[in-house]
Amino acid sequence: MDRREFLQLSSMAALSLYASRLQALQTGSSAVRTGPAQKVAILGAGISGLAAGLELVKAGHNVTILEAQLRPGGRVYTLRAPFSDGLYAEVGAGRIPITHTLTLDYVKRFKLELDPFFPQSGADVFLWRGQRQVVPHGQDPDLTHLNVNLTAEEGMVGFGGLTKKYLQSLQEKVRALPADAWPLPSLAEMGEISLGDYLRQQGASVDAILYLSQGFDTDSLLDFVHDSVSHAVPMMWKIRGGNDLLPHAMADALRDNIRYGAVVARIAQTPTNVEVTFANAGSHHTLVADHVICALPFTVLRGIEVHPQWSVNKAFAIENVYLSPVTRAYAQTKSRFWEADGRNGFATVDQPMEIWSPTYNQPGKRGIVMSYTYEDLAREYSAMSELAQVQRSLDLFEQIHPGMRQNFEGAATWSWLNHPFSKGAFMVTKPGQFRTVVPYLATPEGRIHFAGEHTSPWPGWIQGALHSGLRTAREIAAPS
Ligand SMILES: Cc1cc2nc3c(=O)[nH]c(=O)nc-3n(C[C@H](O)[C@H](O)[C@H](O)COP(=O)(O)OP(=O)(O)OC[C@H]3O[C@@H](n4cnc5c(N)ncnc54)[C@H](O)[C@@H]3O)c2cc1C
Repeated sequence: MDRREFLQLSSMAALSLYASRLQALQTGSSAVRTGPAQKVAILGAGISGLAAGLELVKAGHNVTILEAQLRPGGRVYTLRAPFSDGLYAEVGAGRIPITHTLTLDYVKRFKLELDPFFPQSGADVFLWRGQRQVVPHGQDPDLTHLNVNLTAEEGMVGFGGLTKKYLQSLQEKVRALPADAWPLPSLAEMGEISLGDYLRQQGASVDAILYLSQGFDTDSLLDFVHDSVSHAVPMMWKIRGGNDLLPHAMADALRDNIRYGAVVARIAQTPTNVEVTFANAGSHHTLVADHVICALPFTVLRGIEVHPQWSVNKAFAIENVYLSPVTRAYAQTKSRFWEADGRNGFATVDQPMEIWSPTYNQPGKRGIVMSYTYEDLAREYSAMSELAQVQRSLDLFEQIHPGMRQNFEGAATWSWLNHPFSKGAFMVTKPGQFRTVVPYLATPEGRIHFAGEHTSPWPGWIQGALHSGLRTAREIAAPS
């Protein structure tokens, strides 16, 4: 949804009420120590582990963060190599909604600068069943010259009006609730049906479902609509220089507390402490702590040995949480040749993917066009060789921006599904999982506390990871 459509749909007054509710949720986030200093092991130096670490160190606790990789940030990762001329593109988190005030507070705290995520001008490309139109940014394609299968009613509102027609009233229901009411029990019935089934019940056409769902048609309606509220904002930001400057700045402040290359393999809890075993540089080490914050994706936690076994509900949640697969493919070009006729490099296509041009405001002549592929299509890409992914992406990019192959210099690809320390991109809640999985994600197990985007009111967002880190720090610093 772009700015024009958003302004049609939602008044600024409603937005500012929603933002002030979020702000209220974030106040008092500091973990104030009420007892003796605790020895805390944090598993994972992603955004959630780092946020927890900063709070606990500030409160005077003794913190060690064990991170498997040699960099902080986990799923906030900016790809700089193999690109030339200092170009960069995001592998994970790309955009920061203007309503995500907690994330924006951290950006400010670490003195980072922001740029608009989307170009504010230029034309997008719309490619549907092989037909291509260049459409001024924020406007709808001309449907009379496109081979689309929309119903007559959908045709009247166009692609840009589909969200309003099918989802706006539900978005308003979500916006009307305080963010800390997550997982929104008053809207529980929306958690029992899939987005696709709901849209079909409303009479939506196949193309309308493809356009709206971007492959997430088996997501629960509640999860999809709740997430779409974060997208339905008048401005999205990105951090100048790359979004991973945020976790790097956070990690810099925790330099003495982080142990990189430490792969956690076993967690054993007794009534008085927790023993964490990790592999580092070819040997095994044990860290004994009063408390553990597990800030790992549950897809990874599944493979970690644990004693005693998790409670039944927690074990079910860990086994069944669904992290959506995502792939990305990047093509570096000799020049941003698409700009010659006013195109900004971004595109909408009839596949579950987004097309971005992250270099639109980066210095130099060279550029990057990239795909952001979701769900079944991402699973398919994840199973392909890099060469096959690049060839298929270039075929598509050539249709979007003719001349791509001639200007192409080199490529990179990424699969979050195949990444051993993520095994998926972000949590998506399937129908029924608001009852069986979500209530048990954040609950502590004895001395083990759980942070991570999946345990928060903003699954799939930096804001959720930050919020969960602050929550777990409070659980330890000032137990209720
Ligand atoms: C493709 C994609 C797009 C996204 N888009 C956006 C967006 O536009 N805006 C936004 O705000 N958010 C976005 N997000 C979400 C955001 O990136 C995440 O919510 C957030 O980064 C998750 O942080 P985390 O701390 O929960 O987990 P992670 O970042 O996954 O951190 C977990 C850490 O644990 C480490 N680890 C794993 N296993 C072990 C082990 N055995 N031992 C030790 N350490 C281990 C990992 O290396 C990692 O550093 C996106 C994410 C992805 C993947």
